[in-house]
Amino acid sequence: MEDCLFCKIVAGKIPSQTVYQDDQVFAFRDINPQAPVHVLIIPKTHITAVSDITKEHIPLLGHMVVIANQIAQSEGIFEKGYRLAINCGKEGGQAVAHLHIHLLGGRQMSGKLG
Ligand code: 5GP
Ligand code: ZN
Repeated sequence: MEDCLFCKIVAGKIPSQTVYQDDQVFAFRDINPQAPVHVLIIPKTHITAVSDITKEHIPLLGHMVVIANQIAQSEGIFEKGYRLAINCGKEGGQAVAHLHIHLLGGRQMSGKLG
């Protein structure tokens, strides 16, 4: 999508600290990290939000979680634990309208989500 920040990152038009990529998925470090490890895992194809996910996306979403786990391994937080978060829409706290999974770890997360 032309005017999408994360599509521009996937295309390399905006630089990012890439952590992983394959044919379906791109992962890069969050510009404003909320934890020692804060990586965003996104589909290369534009999907606006998790609310747009339908049955046809099940393999893609499964793949994104597998990759998130793999990155947790390579970042050294797999054993201690980590958080995967998806914000959706305005009240869900989604600022960038391209589906992304936050991978957060390297510190004790609070029980609070809001
Ligand atoms: P959201 O609030 O939509 O769930 O999360 C968007 C995330 O994208 C935020 O954590 C924010 O710091 C990150 N972000 C916004 N713009 C950029 C950018 O240009 N580069 C990178 N690497 N992260 C960004
Ligand atoms: Zn996009």
